[in-house]
Amino acid sequence: MSRNSELFERANRSIPGGVNSPVRAFRSVGGTPRFIKRAQGPYVWDADDARYIDYVGSWGPAILGHAHPDVVAAVQDAAANGLSYGAPTEAEVELAETLVARIPSIEKVRLVSSGTEATMSAIRLARGATGRSKIIKFEGCYHGHADSLLVKAGSGLLTFGNPTSAGVPAEFIQHTLVLDYNDLDAVKAAFSQYADNIACVIIEPIAGNMNLIRPAKGFLEGLRELCTQHGALLIFDEVMTGFRAGPQGVQGLTGITPDLTTLAKVIGGGMPVGAFGGRADIMDHIAPLGAVYQAGTLSGNPVAVAAGLATLKHVAQPGFYEALSQQTQKLVTGLAERARAAGITMTADSVGGMFGIYFRDEIPTSFAEVSDANIDLFNRFFHGMLDKGVHFAPSAFEAGFVSATHDDAVIQTTLDAAEQVFATLNG
Ligand SMILES: *Cc1c(COP(=O)(O)O)cnc(C)c1O
Repeated sequence: MSRNSELFERANRSIPGGVNSPVRAFRSVGGTPRFIKRAQGPYVWDADDARYIDYVGSWGPAILGHAHPDVVAAVQDAAANGLSYGAPTEAEVELAETLVARIPSIEKVRLVSSGTEATMSAIRLARGATGRSKIIKFEGCYHGHADSLLVKAGSGLLTFGNPTSAGVPAEFIQHTLVLDYNDLDAVKAAFSQYADNIACVIIEPIAGNMNLIRPAKGFLEGLRELCTQHGALLIFDEVMTGFRAGPQGVQGLTGITPDLTTLAKVIGGGMPVGAFGGRADIMDHIAPLGAVYQAGTLSGNPVAVAAGLATLKHVAQPGFYEALSQQTQKLVTGLAERARAAGITMTADSVGGMFGIYFRDEIPTSFAEVSDANIDLFNRFFHGMLDKGVHFAPSAFEAGFVSATHDDAVIQTTLDAAEQVFATLNG
């Protein structure tokens, strides 16, 4: 028996489903998850010492590749000075200043420890600042696992086909309106129905939790206008896209400025860091200045902040995102070409260092269209690639991630493997 299987069996005895986050369990693709014992650059090694080219990248954070020496050194230095103080530090001010300087919408920012905390806090803040109750979210967008946001949320839940989670009382989500991504008319209708009781619209401005889905032309602009017109706040959940789609997130790419922005993943460089920030007048509603309570024992943790700062320093180097986008494009065009040559129906898309591959004939624009892909074909592709040492995300509803260490040779090895796998998929 493989060591991965042994560990999975053992894990299942003490951890529900054997994992600490559902999609890791391979439920959607079947088979045994790989237990990772080491990672370096574009590679991870599993418990059986098999090496994989990694396109999961810790679900986004590993943008510099795994175990980047500068990030590791920053963590080691910080750890030697103590792991946590529960008091302010200069490094967290530096991280806050970096986020203010680079993310257009952020004038003030508060650090937390995860994306879930960031979005949960941003929603509370939006409600507290506007004195309104209702929120609008979009089907297929995932904003962490806070109660009011677990309504037809993406990734793990989609994979299991559950529209929502047990344990969330209906009363808790009665103020959450779920609309179709890219359906501006539905947003207009919601605003005319609930006029001045909508606190905020929260959106992944490029969705990355129902595979990769771009906003349609005019959609984000429309949201911005409607929110401004009705006194609601626009929240961009850039937990995934921040410092991943581009140097200033999607707001930098589109020029559309939300009122609040949530971040995590890349800003922690692999350590637990999240953040929510935005207009200073809104942020000043947070305690101790204002009446919206929010706190965290490990918020701004010095070791985590050190990893984030070291990471953000690297991505600021000239040409970083151009190179990352280019490698990601090489990957997806190469995959699409090889699929076509093998007679497989597949399309692909990428933005910055994130990508989507879809086993359908057109790039999807909504959750319904993503769901309409050939999931069985994806699953066979996934396992074929895994057998050849390439680790894609274990679900057709997840985006993929490329790091700065995915060089031409790594991409070529991936494409060669894909060519062989596509040949086995037909028929
Ligand atoms: C990952 C993710 C979250 C949740 O972040 P965690 O750190 O896993 O809690 C929220 N929103 C988006 C867009 C994400 O991709």
